[in-house]
Amino acid sequence: LAEKQFRVYYQPKYRIQGKRPVLTSAEALIRWFHPERGMISPGVFIPLFEKNGLIARLDHYVWQEAAAQIRAWKDQYGFSLPVSVNVSRIDIFNPNLEEELRSILETCRLDPKEVLLEITESAYADHSSQIVETVSSLRRKGFQIEMDDFGSGYSSLNMLTTMPIDALKLDMGFIRNICKSQKDFRMVQLVLDIAAFLEVPVIAEGVETEEQYMLLKDAGCDVIQGYYFSRPLPPEEFNLLIEKELADRKGQSEE
Ligand code: C2E
Ligand code: MG
Ligand code: MG
Repeated sequence: LAEKQFRVYYQPKYRIQGKRPVLTSAEALIRWFHPERGMISPGVFIPLFEKNGLIARLDHYVWQEAAAQIRAWKDQYGFSLPVSVNVSRIDIFNPNLEEELRSILETCRLDPKEVLLEITESAYADHSSQIVETVSSLRRKGFQIEMDDFGSGYSSLNMLTTMPIDALKLDMGFIRNICKSQKDFRMVQLVLDIAAFLEVPVIAEGVETEEQYMLLKDAGCDVIQGYYFSRPLPPEEFNLLIEKELADRKGQSEE
């Protein structure tokens, strides 16, 4: 961290049920550029950092960077793009979590609605009572919670009805084979039904092809994130997506 080997990348999420896909938010994803080992994927070091406790500092850094980026985009483009950050299962037990987030928002003059919080489903299953408490309190302060990797953990359907959440992020594993496997597509439809029952939108992750995109659109999925639209990008490249979105909006209002 001190040597600035970590960088935050951003991957766009698009709302897809309108006439054209609309840029609606982004996810902040950490990248480690190690001087000898090169780029190390978070899938490799996040589980290690969760074991050795370093995750708290890393996540704090990511939240700070993401908040500063939202502020920079607001100042540069007059455009408020909410960014979701990943909240590790370890952060849930941090007694200062709310205070840390509040202070970051204050420094960057942001509203809690602009920093979305992603919590992985398996954390819910492991520590349900602590999570309900933490998440309920965060929601009372105005934060919105997205349940990440939904369908990969072992949470019970019963838990879902008591769990306060604002969106479901469908695990990538479901999307991979929806075009080939009728069973996988049926599972996605079932999750969309559950989300409709809970009255929350569904975000599909890992959408790579036009075919997957069309299937999900027809099935009624609200938001899509994946290589089909864009890989996670460094902020200077993400700027181009914002510029394109603003140009599309301008074009539409002139139509
Ligand atoms: P996640 O939060 O579920 O993030 C989505 C992952 O899917 C990202 O992997 C993203 O690059 C990848 N992805 C997005 N679209 C596609 C696609 O179309 N195809 C494929 N094959 N992959 C796609 P990434 O960046 O390697 O991150 C892996 C996991 O590491 C994340 O999963 C998250 O659980 C964790 N992570 C990443 N950054 C942070 C962080 O700052 N803090 C914490 N606590 N965890 C993080
Ligand atoms: Mg995530
Ligand atoms: Mg996920």
